[in-house]
Amino acid sequence: MFEVSVEESFAAGHALRGYRGKCENPHGHNYKVRVTLTGEQLDNIGLLWDFKDLKGALGEIIERFDHQYLNDLEPFKVENPSAENMARYFYRETSSKLRTSTNGRVQVKDVTVWETDTTTAKYSE
Ligand SMILES: [Zn+2]
Repeated sequence: MFEVSVEESFAAGHALRGYRGKCENPHGHNYKVRVTLTGEQLDNIGLLWDFKDLKGALGEIIERFDHQYLNDLEPFKVENPSAENMARYFYRETSSKLRTSTNGRVQVKDVTVWETDTTTAKYSE
């Protein structure tokens, strides 16, 4: 199996609904996201998926969130913008882009979201 990963970062604000403590109040994070892809077959030039395309797919999602208040944006108007829910959202969004452009040859293995340097949430299916 091959694996490739890219990481991107962005800044955003959020508040955790129903949380008892400081995180209930609006505050910001410098988030980092890592998306890891996996597959057995490379394409005809020896790539699993072009890093540029993966960065582009991730960048499209980040563009919506960068310097925004996450609680005001779908899907976090209802779902809590926790690192766990963000990891699942990034996973599903990048998975659907991959399915259409690689015909199932490449899958998203997992997505990790850093809320701080020492706290991460990872999602996979
Ligand atoms: Zn927070």
